Amino acid sequence: MSLEIANVSKSFDGAEAVLDDVSLAMHEGEFLALLGPSGSGKTTLLNVVAGLTRPDRGRLVLDGEDITDRHAGARRFGMVFQSYALFRHMSVAQNVDFGLRVLPRAERPPKAERDARVRELLDLIEMGDLGARYPAQLSGGQRQRVAMARALAISPKLLLLDEPFSALDAQVRQSLRGSVRELQRKVGVAAILVTHDQTEAFAIADRVAVMNTGRIEQIGTERELRDAPASPFVRDFLKAGA
Ligand code: ADP
Repeated sequence: MSLEIANVSKSFDGAEAVLDDVSLAMHEGEFLALLGPSGSGKTTLLNVVAGLTRPDRGRLVLDGEDITDRHAGARRFGMVFQSYALFRHMSVAQNVDFGLRVLPRAERPPKAERDARVRELLDLIEMGDLGARYPAQLSGGQRQRVAMARALAISPKLLLLDEPFSALDAQVRQSLRGSVRELQRKVGVAAILVTHDQTEAFAIADRVAVMNTGRIEQIGTERELRDAPASPFVRDFLKAGA
């Protein structure tokens, strides 16, 4: 998988640009974090990648193919967004199966195959015995693991995570970070995480893109960003959160 985001700009209702000529390239299997203060454009950029928000300018190229005009369903990315919580009236297994039922009819595997895939995914998140439970009977961390399994059901090329840990307490957050990273590696999927928490970004991501007022100020590893910040903003932002 390679994803290229080229010169993407977006503004809402003629207001100031929320994304201002953003470009970045992601590598195979990479875990990238979008880090920045509230309002810097992280979620908008993720939504552009997801196909939920149309950019005013710029292109998205996935494995050499221009996907800018492809709608969200056709992009087939895995999404764990706050707004896509688990369905409360569905069991854990049904929630994960839902990830497969969204496929167009012609591509949807038959029930027996889906059941096998759901079992495989529940084993992957180490919740093999909990398929019959309902979301209300799970911990916050378990719910997020189920959301991950649902997102991974269709074997997406890219996993999009929007502040997936924000509602959890510090200890759960830390352990979930580890399991998300482990799961991502095991499956070999590339991932983009939106977060305002630099500890989280550096703990989980291979590279971090620091955003400020709709622009990527700098992209790099923790060492690169700390040792050679490209702007006073990057230096001060990282210092403030240390
Ligand atoms: P972040 O995720 O970094 O907090 P967002 O991408 O959510 O930033 O928002 C960046 C800016 O874009 C904010 O000022 C926000 O109010 C504005 N914005 C985001 N979505 C919309 C929308 N649908 N309509 C109007 N303004 C929006």
